[in-house]
Amino acid sequence: MAGTTIGEALSFAQRAIERFDAQYMLARLMLRSRASLIANLDATLDAEVAKTFRDWVDQRAAGKPVAQIVGVREFYGREFAVDEHVLIPRPETEVLVEQALARLSKHFWSEMPADRRLSVLDMGTGSGAIASTLALENPQLAVTALDCSPEPLRLARANAERLGARVSFLQSDWYVAVGEQRFHAIVANPPYVAREDAHLQQGDLRFEPRIALTDESDDGLSAIRCIVDGAQGHLHPHGWLLLEHGYDQAERVRSLLNAAGFSAVESVKDLAGIERVTLGRRPTQRAPA
Ligand code: GLN
Repeated sequence: MAGTTIGEALSFAQRAIERFDAQYMLARLMLRSRASLIANLDATLDAEVAKTFRDWVDQRAAGKPVAQIVGVREFYGREFAVDEHVLIPRPETEVLVEQALARLSKHFWSEMPADRRLSVLDMGTGSGAIASTLALENPQLAVTALDCSPEPLRLARANAERLGARVSFLQSDWYVAVGEQRFHAIVANPPYVAREDAHLQQGDLRFEPRIALTDESDDGLSAIRCIVDGAQGHLHPHGWLLLEHGYDQAERVRSLLNAAGFSAVESVKDLAGIERVTLGRRPTQRAPA
């Protein structure tokens, strides 16, 4: 019996899953571009490839996110390994990275530390996409990344090593294990989906770690409150706090930062035009309580 062709495999897959996902997964499996698949629909698939592809299509049809099936997701132009223990990096989080890089540039730091290395802490690092990207985009930064669970830390460390990013990792429940250390910026994409949010039961979110998505609170702001409350004590004077948050939380996060005494508080929109990142700067003197 002649083997399955690329065209046959794709049209079979498209009965169960979206066309783009089918093309993307088969291209990954064959280490080729989607364009080259489409230009070679009559080529015969290797039996092993055809078998794995059928298995991937079944997994996708059962709802599993493509990134977990193929094991990687691109973020800021680099590939990060992902698994069921970490949030899949999202394009909107690139806004957080861009803003952090800008706020950690010389422009905002007339007095650089003697070793010229500004330090940044990434809280709840997951796959380490934010921390590794910061370290690779600005090798002068001293990047520390923490997570409360060992599995994400293992994955984040492997990602950093493969990409050649210099990052220090720390297992810590938010600030618990950070000690007295202070940073020039603190960044986080914390769990911010409210406990009862219907999205948690829908689509790809069902397969991502609940602990990375929701803080199990009614408003989704308890992790953000905890990070804001501890931030002044872990930032150098003039240090920046940058937080990703939900599509409808910007105003409340700005209020939290203002109430905690931050200055220059503002929110930044993502590519969809949604206020997605809110940031502020620690004043020289701690604001009176
Ligand atoms: N942006 C993600 C979503 O709504 C949630 C990420 C997070 O909780 N940090 O799917």
